[in-house]
Amino acid sequence: MDIELSASDLSFREEVRQFFRDNAYKPGEDYAKWRLDWFAKAAAKGGWDVPKWPKEFGGPGWSPTQHYIWEQETARATLPWDMPFGVGMVAPIIMGYGNKAQQERFLPDIRARKVNWCQGYSEPGAGSDLASLKTKAVLSADGTHYVVNGQKIWTTAAHIADWMFCLTRTDDSGRKQDGITFLLFPMKQPGIEVKPIITLGGAHSVNSVFITDVKVPVENRIGEEGKGWTYAKGLLQHERTGLAGISRSLVALEGLKANAASVPRGNGTLLDDPDFRAKVAALEIDLLAAEFTELRSLASAQAGAAPGPESSILKLKGTEIQQRIQKLTVEAAGLYAAAWGASQPGPKFARGGMSGYLASRAYTIYGGASEVQKDVIAKNVLGIKRSQA
Ligand SMILES: Cc1cc2nc3c(=O)[nH]c(=O)nc-3n(C[C@H](O)[C@H](O)[C@H](O)COP(=O)(O)OP(=O)(O)OC[C@H]3O[C@@H](n4cnc5c(N)ncnc54)[C@H](O)[C@@H]3O)c2cc1C
Repeated sequence: MDIELSASDLSFREEVRQFFRDNAYKPGEDYAKWRLDWFAKAAAKGGWDVPKWPKEFGGPGWSPTQHYIWEQETARATLPWDMPFGVGMVAPIIMGYGNKAQQERFLPDIRARKVNWCQGYSEPGAGSDLASLKTKAVLSADGTHYVVNGQKIWTTAAHIADWMFCLTRTDDSGRKQDGITFLLFPMKQPGIEVKPIITLGGAHSVNSVFITDVKVPVENRIGEEGKGWTYAKGLLQHERTGLAGISRSLVALEGLKANAASVPRGNGTLLDDPDFRAKVAALEIDLLAAEFTELRSLASAQAGAAPGPESSILKLKGTEIQQRIQKLTVEAAGLYAAAWGASQPGPKFARGGMSGYLASRAYTIYGGASEVQKDVIAKNVLGIKRSQA
C-alpha cells in the first residue's frame, strides 16, 4: 500500500533504516551483549526501545504514520529477540492500573529487558471462557499477603520467565467476571512447578504451571482486589493487535512470491500457474484490507483511545493471513516440505516449511480463538445481539 509520506516522514524513515543498518548483528558477535546494547542505543534515540509506550513513560510519542513506518521497517530488519509479555503486555497494565511504587519498581527492568515475564491467564477449563478461572488467592488474616493455589496451562515461556502476571480468583460468590484479582509474582520460588508441553511443530514453548501455596505480598497486586477482569480485558486487546503481524506478513508474502517464482512448473514457474496466482492475489487483497484496519487502529491509539473491537478484526484476519502464507509455502515446496531437519533435500525455503505450517495452527487459537473474535465483532461492530433461545 502506498500512503503519501511527507518530507519529514521520509526523513524519519531514512533515520530508522540507518539505525537498523548501523546496529545490525554481525556474525560472530556475542548475541546477548549485542541484544542489550541494541535496546540501550534504541533508548538513547528517545524511546525507540519502547515505541508503543506513552511519552510520559519514556515512549517516543510518534505520530500514527511514524508508527506505521516503524512497523514496516522492523518487519524487514533483523531485530533482537524480544518477548511480548513484558514491554508489550504487562507494562501497559502497570502504567494504566498500577500505583507509582509499582511503576517505579517494575517498568525500568521491563524496559531494559532484564526480566522475562509470562502470562498466567489460561487454565484447564478456562481458555475462551477465561472468566471461569479457578486459581485461588486467599488474603492472609493480617492482610499482608495472598496465598495462591491452582494450575495455569499453555503458559508460553514459563520455563525461562522470571515473573508471572497472573489472574487469580479472590471471590466466587458473584458474577464470574467479578472476584478476579491481578497478581505479580516471581517464578523461581518454592511452590512453582513448570512442566513442558511439546506442540505439534516439535517445539517447547508452552508449559503447564502448578502453583502451590505461593505467598504473594499485597504490594504485588495490581489495582483493586476483584477488579482484575477489567485490567485483563484491556491487556487482551493490546495482545490481539500485536498478534496480527501485518507488516511481517507483507514481507513473508514477498518471500512467498519469490520462492514460487523459483519453482519450475510447465514452461514457466509456479507463480505463473493461474490457480496459484489466484490464491496469492486473494491473499494480497485481504492483506491490503488488514493493513488499512491496522492504520485505523494506529490512528485511534494515537488519539488516546484504548484498542477497541478493531483489535479483534486484526487478530482474526491477521492470523488467518499468516496461516494462508504458511499453507502456500508448503504448497510451493511440495513433497520437500515434509522432510525434517537441517540437511533435508529440495529448495532452502522448504526447510522448516511443515513445522512452520503446523506451528501456525496455534495462531488462530492463542490470544483468543477465531470464534471468540467473531463473537466480539458480531456484538461490538455489527451490533448483533445474542439470541435468547
Ligand atoms: C501456542 C499457544 C500459546 C499460548 N500461550 C498462552 C500464554 O502464554 N498464556 C495464557 O494464559 N494462555 C496461553 N495460551 C492459551 C490460549 O489463550 C487458549 O488456548 C485459548 O484462549 C483457547 O482456549 P482453550 O485452549 O481452553 O480452548 P477452548 O476455549 O476450550 O476452545 C475449544 C474450541 O471451542 C471454541 N469455542 C470456545 N468458546 C466458543 C464460543 N463462545 N463460541 C464458539 N466457539 C467457541 C474455540 O474457538 C475452540 O475452537 C496459548 C495457547 C497456545 C495454543
